[in-house]
Amino acid sequence: MATKLSHIPNWINGQEARPANNLWIDKFNPHSGELLCYVADSSATDVHDAITAAGNAFSLWSELTPIKRGQVLSNIVASMKRRSDELADCIALETGKPPQDAKGEVGGGILQAEYFAGEGMRLYGRSLTSGTPGKHSHTVRQPRGIAGLIVPANTPIANICWKTFPALICGNTVVLKAAEDSPRIANLFAQLAKEAGLPDGVFNVVQGQGQSAGAALVEDSRVAVISFTGSTNVGRWIAEVAGKRLARISLELGGKNSLVVCDDADLDQAVHWASLSAFSNAGQRCASGSRVLVFKDIYDSFRDKFVAKAKSLRLGVSAGCDLGPVINKRQQQNILAAIETARAEGGRVLCGGGAPADPDLKAGYYIQPTVIDGLQASAELSRKEVFGPVVTLHPVENLAVALKVSNSTEYGLTAAIHTRNVDRAMWFAQRVKAGVANINLGTFGSEPHMPFGGFGASGNGTREPGVEALDVYSEIKNISFLVNLDHLN
Ligand code: NAD
Repeated sequence: MATKLSHIPNWINGQEARPANNLWIDKFNPHSGELLCYVADSSATDVHDAITAAGNAFSLWSELTPIKRGQVLSNIVASMKRRSDELADCIALETGKPPQDAKGEVGGGILQAEYFAGEGMRLYGRSLTSGTPGKHSHTVRQPRGIAGLIVPANTPIANICWKTFPALICGNTVVLKAAEDSPRIANLFAQLAKEAGLPDGVFNVVQGQGQSAGAALVEDSRVAVISFTGSTNVGRWIAEVAGKRLARISLELGGKNSLVVCDDADLDQAVHWASLSAFSNAGQRCASGSRVLVFKDIYDSFRDKFVAKAKSLRLGVSAGCDLGPVINKRQQQNILAAIETARAEGGRVLCGGGAPADPDLKAGYYIQPTVIDGLQASAELSRKEVFGPVVTLHPVENLAVALKVSNSTEYGLTAAIHTRNVDRAMWFAQRVKAGVANINLGTFGSEPHMPFGGFGASGNGTREPGVEALDVYSEIKNISFLVNLDHLN
């Protein structure tokens, strides 16, 4: 007997709300290719309702003290901890991540949440001196209003926490545009937040497509801050539209991150980190190390070890698998097309290069871990983000060339270098065009208290999380008063 598939509606003013047009999008299981559920295909009407709910809740939420807001957020954290298995199961099903990766992501989301809940007790301003005798000044942080948060599906609960908790601690109310491919986790989070005591209307979720639901959120003049994580093209459009009304915009965009392996590197460690950088989360990371630049002298030995490592990785959704499928059929087809273009441009596919033939994986959106060399730095795959488990290898003469190639794309998100030489490491880290530079590590992102973001086409200069995120979600006001000595007696 067929199981009845569920519908994932919006979440507006503390309750589920079906889309006004009653249209739904099919959501497929990335591992099996089977239909998983139907997702609200929201229109501007639904987005309008969600923004109205957030607007109505603003005065209540923003007038609570930050400490009180932090207490409510801490209750959400406690509930996330209690229900972490449920959250992880939901992510594993929607994204096709192996269970240990889904659990790891929930743990990361909880850490983010915990950090920003605690910020309620640290929402510091500055005290300032003045040139006027008796005048005292200090700054305070005030909320901006309604925050429109737009997220992709690659690390869904981490993305939600990354933006929601700093937005809420600063006193804003939120409309989250969930990713089409991870709808249920957003709905689950909204329910959990309500049960933990978050007042109705403070956090709302609109489901649906970017061009309709996402665009309506960006275009609504009541939304004071837009924080977007996604592709560079969409980010550019958001900057134009929301920039016109001078909304605060935070853009976390794509990357083409390089990992440099010098001739004095610990080769096994370099292989380990390069593999994690390129293939973890099936390469669906903005910080993915999709270009490995290897000193010529050690190129052959690195390449052989790296290819052997890539071939050893296990695909699937069972515990212990190294990588799952990519998120949807369209993405799988895009990646396969990018590999074909690389072949046509002279690339040599050293391993992978297609979908696996394994009968257990055939129906899913899998791509074999793929290593390609022989491409010019100007080839499409050497410059463009793929967002899949595909990496190119490039021999380089020396560090100066490695830096030049690293800095040759329009992006500038993360970079890593492997060397035992501190001079080389620091020379490179200082000069590489990247918001995050790692030494003897992967091209990995940040921890909750560390700023993350990119140069160039990887962002617009904002940084989230860390205390820097507070600048995205709050306005700074300078307050001054004069002590009049004549009034003392
Ligand atoms: P995407 O830009 O297609 O979509 C991201 C989100 O934006 C989705 O929720 C989508 O519905 C919405 N969206 C799409 N068009 C929109 C529009 N016109 N208006 C408003 N919203 C719209 O990106 P994707 O393919 O889902 O995600 C992959 C991209 O995200 C990659 O480029 C990756 O590098 C980037 N990313 C960046 C970071 C970072 O922190 N820098 C982190 C993760 C992912």
